[in-house]
Amino acid sequence: MQEFNSLFDMMEAFPTEQHAIDHLREIRWGKDDVNAHCPHCGSTKVYHFSDNKNHKCGDCRKRFSIKVGTIFEDSKIQLRKWFMAIWLITSHKKGIASTTLAKDIKVTQKTAWFMLHRLRHASQTKSFNAPFDGDVEVDEAYIGGKAINMHKHQIKARKQYEKAAVVGVIKRNGELRAKHIPITNKINLHGMVHEHVSTDARLITDSSHMYKGLNGEYNHEVINHHKGEYVRDDIHTNSIESVWALLKRQISGTHHWVSKKHLQAYVNEMTWRFNRRDHEEGQRVNSLLGNVQGRLTYMELTA
Ligand SMILES: [Zn+2]
Repeated sequence: MQEFNSLFDMMEAFPTEQHAIDHLREIRWGKDDVNAHCPHCGSTKVYHFSDNKNHKCGDCRKRFSIKVGTIFEDSKIQLRKWFMAIWLITSHKKGIASTTLAKDIKVTQKTAWFMLHRLRHASQTKSFNAPFDGDVEVDEAYIGGKAINMHKHQIKARKQYEKAAVVGVIKRNGELRAKHIPITNKINLHGMVHEHVSTDARLITDSSHMYKGLNGEYNHEVINHHKGEYVRDDIHTNSIESVWALLKRQISGTHHWVSKKHLQAYVNEMTWRFNRRDHEEGQRVNSLLGNVQGRLTYMELTA
């Protein structure tokens, strides 16, 4: 597997389009094509053309390239430009605006916008694993208005309903899961807790009434922000609060504003980067490249 640890190294590693194609092929199919399969029928009987770009299925007889069935399918943009875009979106903590990407890789702003949305699509977690144990913090944040992510302690209750809510669950020093929910209420918040927090965990939330009633099933510790309490021994929600600060910087600092419709995509992007915060830059690029299966059409995105 080709390794690289700067944008410059990466472009040196892939001096031609064929190098980029070969790299994507190795990521998707493994070394020596051990996992080669047809994107149409799943058959593993795959023939390779000598041009190193086209393949043919021995069962359904269809011809395809390594891009078929991925976010790169139908894209006329060179893979090398896609790789640069992946570098930029995965290495910049606040993400990258489509206007900046457009200039950096020389595509139109509309193309850059679409590319970034396809990359956000690739960054979504396709399946969740086991619920978290250990110390788990759960909290919600409100995004919207003047593109500012306001925490519930900072805004008046009546305004909450005009904002888009995101609920986050984080295993302390570990993984984050976050989801845009249409309404913040007990049902939605408890649902998120039940889905992602093991009953063996120590659940930590603030004193919002919406988290009431979980102490029957969980070891539930509450920190009362309204009484000015932020840390009691090791009981706090600082990990999830720092996630909201990061999301705020990404949305208000880089994108200025995002619609409710696309909010989950931005949350996915931030979550994906956050969960790979200890990886090397090059590792993050390869990790996203390993997740590109699944298409996202312009129609789907703008519908
Ligand atoms: Zn096939």
